[in-house]
Amino acid sequence: MTTQPFQSSIWTFVNKGALADDSDEVRLKKAILTLISSGIAILAVFWGTLYVCTGYPYSGAIPLGYSVISFFSISHFFKSKQFAAFRFSQLLMILLLPFLLMWSLGGFANGSVVMVWAFFAPLAALFFSGRKSASRWLLGFIALTIISGLINDKLAMLARPMNDSLNTVYFIMNMGAGFLLIYVVLHYFVKDRQASHQMALKSKEEALQSKAQLQTAYEQLKENEIKIRELMLTDPLTGIANRRYLDQRLEQELQRSQRYGDRFSIIMTDLDYFKRINDKYGHNTGDAVLVQFAKVLNDTVRSSDFVARFGGEEFVILLPDTDQQGAAELAERMRQDVAQYEFPGVPETVTASFGVTTVTQAQASVEVLKKVDEALYSSKKQGRNRITSLA
Ligand code: GH3
Ligand code: MG
Ligand code: MG
Repeated sequence: MTTQPFQSSIWTFVNKGALADDSDEVRLKKAILTLISSGIAILAVFWGTLYVCTGYPYSGAIPLGYSVISFFSISHFFKSKQFAAFRFSQLLMILLLPFLLMWSLGGFANGSVVMVWAFFAPLAALFFSGRKSASRWLLGFIALTIISGLINDKLAMLARPMNDSLNTVYFIMNMGAGFLLIYVVLHYFVKDRQASHQMALKSKEEALQSKAQLQTAYEQLKENEIKIRELMLTDPLTGIANRRYLDQRLEQELQRSQRYGDRFSIIMTDLDYFKRINDKYGHNTGDAVLVQFAKVLNDTVRSSDFVARFGGEEFVILLPDTDQQGAAELAERMRQDVAQYEFPGVPETVTASFGVTTVTQAQASVEVLKKVDEALYSSKKQGRNRITSLA
């Protein structure tokens, strides 16, 4: 590769101002400014020569002087490594040179609006130091333009008029440069805005997405919680409320009946000679009988009543807003329904005994359960398949 040594020497040159602990971004900015400064300095040599050759030696001296100062500034930067000072001096020279040139040529008309090149100063500031600094350099550009306007007449009088066709060539060149610079700035801003707009859109989309994910996770959690709660409160064999649920509800119903003075009754029932059914037909049939028994009880009660498996073959029914007589009638109907029911796999009649009690004063749940158990025990003792109502 023949370009290799050339490339590497340019690389060494543009990196001469870099410090060992510079970040990649800073290193890149220093290299770019070094490259731009040297580029403009070389261009200024041609620029100055062009004016000298076309009969404007004093005006041509300005770009040539610029090149000399710029090369000194670059070499000083390489020695001192003071980037901020180098950046400032370069931007200042970029801003001043085109105005000085235009003034020396005799104002706007004769100077072929060469000052548009100075617009490169705020543009470069935008890249090297950000928008705030760029706006200060833009103000400088505007101020120099205004000053140019104020002294334009005097400049025009002092200057030697330029040949029309030459002036036109310079004018077109400078306007072309001006529009190019404006295009680059606008392009940069539009791209920048598009990029930030797109980034905003993307982060909004991401936020929406994670919100949706969170919502789904929350719903899943809620669902799981409901499932767990159900599992915790349900008897797995019969699918009705278990003892834990019964304890909760009994406590609530007792509190409610005490607060509002409502009547509240409770039934406890137990299958008669269930051990025999198990022994005779097997545990599975026993299970099926329990499931059917729960179903018969559930089918007999009202929707406001609450049926729970108390344990083994014992069930409890809570009857809100029901007096002793109403509860006894319901228990009797249940007893009949059970006795008439044909339990699958069991040819003989299956019966159950019932205990009924009504809560009339403030009572703890243990007391209530003890009382209804007493009533049930009484039914068993008296021969089973009957109800006993205790106040
Ligand atoms: P009583 O008329 O005095 O109530 O007599 P019993 O045989 O029904 O009463 P006991 O308490 O002696 O027997 C209850 C039986 O219920 C014993 C137990 O094996 C059975 N059992 C308890 N839970 C289950 C169950 O989930 N499935 C089955 N198949 N049997 C159960
Ligand atoms: Mg029993
Ligand atoms: Mg029992």
